[in-house]
Amino acid sequence: MAGDDNGKAPGRLLSAWRALVGDQDIAGAGHVRAPRGRDAPHPQARLIEQLIGGLPSAAIVLNRDTRVIAFNSAAAGIAPSLRRGEPALITLRMPELVDAIRRAGKTGEAQRVEFFERVPLDRWFEVFVTPVVLDGASDVLVMTFNDLTPLRRVEEMRVDFIANASHELRTPLAALLGFIETLQGPAKNDVAAREKFLGIMQQQAARMARLIDDLLSLSRIELNAHLSPSTPVDLAPLVRQVADGLQTLARDRQVAIKVDAPAEALSVLGDRDELIRALENLVENALKYGAAGKRVDITLSRARTRAGLPEARIAVRDYGPGIAPEHLPRLTERFYRVDVADSRAQGGTGLGLALVKHVLNRHGGKVTIESVPAKGATFTMHLPLRTGDAS
Ligand code: ADP
Repeated sequence: MAGDDNGKAPGRLLSAWRALVGDQDIAGAGHVRAPRGRDAPHPQARLIEQLIGGLPSAAIVLNRDTRVIAFNSAAAGIAPSLRRGEPALITLRMPELVDAIRRAGKTGEAQRVEFFERVPLDRWFEVFVTPVVLDGASDVLVMTFNDLTPLRRVEEMRVDFIANASHELRTPLAALLGFIETLQGPAKNDVAAREKFLGIMQQQAARMARLIDDLLSLSRIELNAHLSPSTPVDLAPLVRQVADGLQTLARDRQVAIKVDAPAEALSVLGDRDELIRALENLVENALKYGAAGKRVDITLSRARTRAGLPEARIAVRDYGPGIAPEHLPRLTERFYRVDVADSRAQGGTGLGLALVKHVLNRHGGKVTIESVPAKGATFTMHLPLRTGDAS
């Protein structure tokens, strides 16, 4: 077999060179003629190269001796040491790939393999090795690569998410089951214990209901993520409505809410309910976590983005303990909390800020967080202004 001579024959180098530059250049350089037969460059090498050059995914074409006839730039990105004319089995060292190439060559049947690469980055690939007979004479192996990495990452996130959500539900559920057992058994006839336990059970059940509510809201927002909201929403009345709605909580926490909004109308294209939900989350957090500061300021203003585009900003500022800088980048991740016990004690689900982020993304805006520990935190919603109000 041609592949058994370890590629030492001078004809091999020559054939690789011919595959690159063609017959005339070799003749012009005064070299010996390349031997005909299996070492000769593939007669359609150029055409094959042009064909796969236009493909978006990585593709490599091998000759029957599994030497590289052609590859495109996406393939060079995956395997930088690829060279035309060189044995693919040496360049592509992944054992799964080598097996698939051998099997495809031997059986004449297409093979599919998946492989995982750790260096330089974690990447997953799906590879098809397909034997193709060209013009009824020469056969080649066409390898195409699909990058499965984004898919795998989403899959990992989904698995993490389900694990987190189940854990969050299991905790109150375990408490409920425990109290039910106690009420059926040892505390069966204890009126005082029954009252106390029923109160706790109600709290735990409410916590589960809140969690399911937040999960459903998140998935609804994500489902509509590609649909830009189109209803004009005037922000000043919305801000006042949220502040009024949270007065009871503010009184409970002994916090004064101050609203500052301009007299002019600032309207955005939005989903009113989602915007209310997002702002409520921010104000509730300020009232819960920043209660020690005794004050929460909600300020609506007109501003410009870095790119100079007009936007509305709703800043929610508290004067509580603030947040240490290392937590800031992760705060909008689902289930991320600075202090899990504190969040639970406040009736939190860990989903509030993730919800805020998704609402703002859907509105073409964003949320920014600034905080100086011991001085408080400011969460700002940025929303693109409607063109009519953009002056
Ligand atoms: P939760 O349901 O726990 O309140 P969020 O996503 O709304 O979930 O907030 C995530 C975490 O961010 C909270 O658990 C809390 O640790 C922190 N946090 C949010 N807002 C504030 C704030 N105004 N001051 C201090 N910490 C805050």
